Amino acid sequence: MQSLEINTHGRGQALNITGQVAQVVAAAGEGQGWCRVYVPHTTAGVAINEAADPDVMADVLMTLERLVPWQGGYRHAEGNSAAHVKSILVGSSVQVPVSGGRLALGTWQGIFFMEFDGPRRRRVLVDVSPA
Ligand code: ZN
Repeated sequence: MQSLEINTHGRGQALNITGQVAQVVAAAGEGQGWCRVYVPHTTAGVAINEAADPDVMADVLMTLERLVPWQGGYRHAEGNSAAHVKSILVGSSVQVPVSGGRLALGTWQGIFFMEFDGPRRRRVLVDVSPA
């Protein structure tokens, strides 16, 4: 299990972490298996989607904001309930197959750390296990 340190720069951000995860996979030396990526935070998440056109993840962030506005008459006194809700919608983990010692992502896919209450210093746990 490896822990990646990530600094986010905005309240809402989709940060492409594919390269950092790929480095963990390469170092693990596992030919065939699974890579699990886990975000141990309650106001962030992780998602797989298009990495070719950055407008895609900008649209995703915009749509999540529309669905779960920052101001929404929430009860939670910390004032960041929207971030908690988005974290649940997006999810805290993804799994990617490992084939030939590499992430078997689709051509257009990337792995994104999804920040919903930044900027903050965050952690991502990455584990590679045999199939
Ligand atoms: Zn909170």
